[in-house]
Amino acid sequence: MAEIMDVGGKRKCAYEQCECQVSTLEIYCSYYCSDADDQQEVELQCDCKHDPCALPEAENLRVALDKGSTL
Ligand SMILES: [Zn+2]
Ligand SMILES: [Zn+2]
Repeated sequence: MAEIMDVGGKRKCAYEQCECQVSTLEIYCSYYCSDADDQQEVELQCDCKHDPCALPEAENLRVALDKGSTL
Protein backbone atom coordinates (compact mmCIF):
# COMPACT_ATOMS: atom_id res chain seq x y z
CA MET A 1 0.00 0.00 0.00
CA ALA A 2 1.39 3.29 -1.01
CA GLU A 3 1.12 6.06 1.45
CA ILE A 4 -0.04 9.34 0.03
CA MET A 5 2.48 11.99 0.84
CA ASP A 6 1.70 15.65 1.01
CA VAL A 7 3.97 16.58 -1.84
CA GLY A 8 4.90 20.18 -2.27
CA GLY A 9 2.73 21.41 0.56
CA LYS A 10 4.10 24.72 1.71
CA ARG A 11 3.20 27.27 4.27
CA LYS A 12 4.82 30.29 5.82
CA CYS A 13 7.14 29.92 8.73
CA ALA A 14 5.15 30.39 11.93
CA TYR A 15 7.40 33.19 13.08
CA GLU A 16 5.62 36.39 12.11
CA GLN A 17 8.66 38.34 10.98
CA CYS A 18 9.87 35.49 8.84
CA GLU A 19 9.14 35.31 5.13
CA CYS A 20 10.37 31.78 4.58
CA GLN A 21 8.28 28.93 3.28
CA VAL A 22 8.41 25.64 5.10
CA SER A 23 6.90 22.28 4.33
CA THR A 24 3.61 21.44 5.95
CA LEU A 25 5.51 19.03 8.17
CA GLU A 26 7.47 21.89 9.69
CA ILE A 27 6.45 24.88 11.75
CA TYR A 28 9.56 27.02 11.59
CA CYS A 29 12.23 27.30 8.95
CA SER A 30 15.01 27.37 11.49
CA TYR A 31 15.91 27.12 15.12
CA TYR A 32 16.20 30.88 15.16
CA CYS A 33 12.51 31.30 14.32
CA SER A 34 11.41 28.67 16.79
CA ASP A 35 13.39 30.34 19.52
CA ALA A 36 12.35 33.87 18.63
CA ASP A 37 8.68 33.01 18.47
CA ASP A 38 8.89 31.06 21.68
CA GLN A 39 10.32 34.05 23.50
CA GLN A 40 7.73 36.41 22.01
CA GLU A 41 10.57 38.64 20.96
CA VAL A 42 9.66 41.77 19.12
CA GLU A 43 12.12 41.88 16.28
CA LEU A 44 11.97 44.24 13.36
CA GLN A 45 13.26 41.61 11.02
CA CYS A 46 13.84 37.92 10.95
CA ASP A 47 17.49 36.93 11.19
CA CYS A 48 17.25 33.32 10.11
CA LYS A 49 19.72 34.02 7.27
CA HIS A 50 17.55 32.45 4.61
CA ASP A 51 17.12 34.19 1.28
CA PRO A 52 13.57 35.50 1.80
CA CYS A 53 14.68 37.27 4.96
CA ALA A 54 18.13 38.39 3.86
CA LEU A 55 18.92 42.05 3.85
CA PRO A 56 19.44 43.64 0.46
CA GLU A 57 23.00 42.86 -0.52
CA ALA A 58 23.41 45.50 -3.19
CA GLU A 59 25.36 47.78 -0.91
CA ASN A 60 27.69 45.10 0.35
CA LEU A 61 28.33 44.04 -3.20
CA ARG A 62 29.21 47.57 -4.23
CA VAL A 63 31.67 47.88 -1.35
CA ALA A 64 33.29 44.62 -2.33
CA LEU A 65 33.62 45.71 -5.94
CA ASP A 66 35.04 49.03 -4.86
CA LYS A 67 37.67 47.35 -2.71
CA GLY A 68 38.54 45.04 -5.55
CA SER A 69 39.14 47.86 -7.99
CA THR A 70 41.52 49.69 -5.67
CA LEU A 71 43.77 46.70 -5.22
ZN1 LIG B 1 13.26 34.11 8.32
ZN1 LIG C 1 11.52 31.31 9.71
